[in-house]
Amino acid sequence: MQTISNYIGGALCPPVDAQYLPVIEPATGKVYAQVPASQASDVQLAYEAAHKAFPSWSQTAIQDRAAILMQIAAGIESRMEELIAAESKDNGKPLSLARRVDIPRARDNFRYFAQAITQFHNESFDMGDVGFNYTLRRPHGVVGLISPWNLPLYLFTWKIAPALAAGNTAIAKPSEVTPYTAYLLSEICQAAGLPEGVLNIVHGKGPEAGEAIIQHPGVKAISFTGSTAVGKHIAATAGPMFKKLSLEMGGKNAQVIFADADYAHTLDTAVRAAYTNQGQICLCGSRILVERSMYDRFVSDLAARVQSLQVGDPLDESTQVGAIVSEAQYQKDLSYIQLAREEGGEILAGGQAVQLGGRCAGGYFIQPTLIAGLGPQCRVNQEEIFGPIATVQAFDTEEEAIQMANATPYGLSATLMTQHLSRAHRVAAQLEAGIVWVNNWMVRDLRTPFGGMKQSGVGREGGMDALRFFTEPKNVFIQA
Ligand code: NAD
Repeated sequence: MQTISNYIGGALCPPVDAQYLPVIEPATGKVYAQVPASQASDVQLAYEAAHKAFPSWSQTAIQDRAAILMQIAAGIESRMEELIAAESKDNGKPLSLARRVDIPRARDNFRYFAQAITQFHNESFDMGDVGFNYTLRRPHGVVGLISPWNLPLYLFTWKIAPALAAGNTAIAKPSEVTPYTAYLLSEICQAAGLPEGVLNIVHGKGPEAGEAIIQHPGVKAISFTGSTAVGKHIAATAGPMFKKLSLEMGGKNAQVIFADADYAHTLDTAVRAAYTNQGQICLCGSRILVERSMYDRFVSDLAARVQSLQVGDPLDESTQVGAIVSEAQYQKDLSYIQLAREEGGEILAGGQAVQLGGRCAGGYFIQPTLIAGLGPQCRVNQEEIFGPIATVQAFDTEEEAIQMANATPYGLSATLMTQHLSRAHRVAAQLEAGIVWVNNWMVRDLRTPFGGMKQSGVGREGGMDALRFFTEPKNVFIQA
């Protein structure tokens, strides 16, 4: 059994009251590690270390901060295979996906923000005879970073890299469900020469360790990615304390498919967008809206493609659909398939749990599932499931497609498939989503702002927006 440590003040250390939580490998259903069940006392130690480190780190030359972040990126690169295997084991995601997306992106997050901070600049406004105004942007101090289980290292580093680049020190908490790659990151930071206390990683449950971070009066800003329910709670707790907040939350994203789309490419994209990482990506398109004139043909081909996806051991290179992250999520997914049946849905593909043999006999596997016959207001089309479950619905007109796509409380992303140029611009502008992909899915330039509308997000991460979030602007006026 492996024991995960907290990373506080530059040292790997056990939790103060020596309590641990089991970490389960979702592909086997077996405990393979234990992770600190940290409490407020651990968060306090992390705060003290971060507070002590802040004056020196915030005054470290930008080039020197950037060089250390580049060293961390190099450390990720040098332990790439180990991280890929750890991520797949921890999360249940296919090895091939961790190799293609998650771990390279964690490395790139550090590279990107190491470079971006050297380009980040303050504004100056010339007022002629009166004088001039300039804006100073300074780091906040100690910030709190809280991330979910679905893209564990990718999203964790997406917060840590800009926070540190901007000169803050941090208390970061990964999901207790998938803590292992964050632990390996602590070792990488030690080896990269990150000064003590600049980054502190405290493991544990949300209502305990997470709650202590958001309530700590010395933590000036919180960057959170996770569910809308927890985001609401964080806003209610930290808002009255006037902490700066970035909340990236749930989604119920639409794929809007017009009959003029490139058929084969659309079929590939629809499968990828709905089922990558077992549908456990906040950006997955779980509501597939198809123009009626092509609906029957497209849905029949789509069902066949979904049926043919290979469910298997995530550690097997040929696996396309791995394990569901936890037993709780597995039960939730199955309950929504049952609900779909009760709401009058027709299961076109999947719909059942999968019992694998061998080492995966106790694992959490579900067939990728496609459901028809549910209207936009059904719970299955309104509530975020976060599993390998998508629905199909037909639309007749562009207006109807937009209305259906926008008919949920969420607004994270949307996929729009059409070859009609002006329709692409017109519809993209009307979709209530922070990100719209036209004729693709999940492609990102890290310089662009990232985040959701409506109940999917407050604020924007990514690019210079992240560096703006992690700094406080101050205007200075100088009399001529
Ligand atoms: P979650 O909200 O349950 O947990 C997220 C993190 O918050 C975890 O680290 C958890 O321990 C912590 N937490 C829980 N309660 C807390 C509290 N009271 N105080 C402080 N921290 C607390 O989410 P999850 O189940 O880990 O992840 C899935 C969710 O994340 C989905 O809703 C998904 O859409 C969302 N998500 C959103 C984005 C995005 O960019 N918008 C990206 C990935 C995932």
